[in-house]
Amino acid sequence: MKITSFEATTLAIPEDDPLANMPEEAGRKRPVVTLRLRTDSGIEGIGISFYGGKMTGSLRKAVDELAELTIGMDPLRIEAITAKLRAGTGDACGPGGIFTLAAAAIDIALWDIKGKALDQPLWKLLGGHRDRVPTYASGSLRRGLTDNQAQRAAQILVQKGFKEMKTQMALPGNPTPAEEVRRVRVVREAIGPDIKLMCDINQRWRPEQAIDIGSRIEDVGLFWLEDVTTADDYQGLARVTAALKTPIAGGEYVYGIAPFRQMIQNHSVDIVMIDIVRAGGVTPWMKIAGMAEAFNLPVVSHVMPEILVHLIAAIPHGLTVEYMPWMLALYDETPAIENGMLVLPEKPGLGLKFDEKAVAAFKVG
Ligand SMILES: [Mg+2]
Repeated sequence: MKITSFEATTLAIPEDDPLANMPEEAGRKRPVVTLRLRTDSGIEGIGISFYGGKMTGSLRKAVDELAELTIGMDPLRIEAITAKLRAGTGDACGPGGIFTLAAAAIDIALWDIKGKALDQPLWKLLGGHRDRVPTYASGSLRRGLTDNQAQRAAQILVQKGFKEMKTQMALPGNPTPAEEVRRVRVVREAIGPDIKLMCDINQRWRPEQAIDIGSRIEDVGLFWLEDVTTADDYQGLARVTAALKTPIAGGEYVYGIAPFRQMIQNHSVDIVMIDIVRAGGVTPWMKIAGMAEAFNLPVVSHVMPEILVHLIAAIPHGLTVEYMPWMLALYDETPAIENGMLVLPEKPGLGLKFDEKAVAAFKVG
């Protein structure tokens, strides 16, 4: 089999909140680059990348330039293709940044092709540990909401059957520690003691702030506290992780494989969160997961549940899938949630098909 052509598209997807309908800012859109890799056997693989922000034009160009290098290659030889991409950039645009983001779209599309060629869903190709995985609602209980809105949104998520959900602290407007603590307590109050609750700081605290506020909320029983400080402050993260009983999660903001070595060796986190786009695709994601397993650390996913459900289900130490609905509108059908668990698809590859009407509506380039 050979790759014969590709088609990249730039989309702007509305940033609404389909889970609790509590959008932070109406009308905002998220730029995304999609990729279709086509082969001489008729199989087409789909990939996706984002985080380009105002540089999405550059990301799209990088996807086009890297995809061009795959023409004529065997899509089943993923490491050979990755080596060619790295060599093709003269090692000048890596190891992190836009190279990794663009390479991820290609790697994801190649795994989709491999699954379709072998007529197996991705989660089975990668290990097939479970056919259902826990999932948590994400993106609704944001820091920009009022306490009342956050409580209402949390109750909507419980009514919808979610057994796990994530909120945020590091509230806007330089609040006191007491105000921060109040927010997480009112959310816990709204959902009761039996729902798993996570809380994301998005790198906005200093280590000593994280220890101070984190120690005031140990009794809230958070499932984890996420990205408590700057993602590559491995030693600062380690101080927080050592000081708190609440598990600390992190990893979504770093690029490629090597930063996870630092994160794990420095005991920076209790739970390893791997972003598939910043990691560089399915292949490096699985390598990072293997590294975490060797250190007895659980792994969680970041955004795009429709793809990450395969990876968390594949491995024995996957904890839960972040159900962040950013991209769901792009596809005809996405994995169902039954009794708080995501059900793995039996269709080959990613098991996803673009909703062509949605793609046409979101297309900006
Ligand atoms: Mg996060």
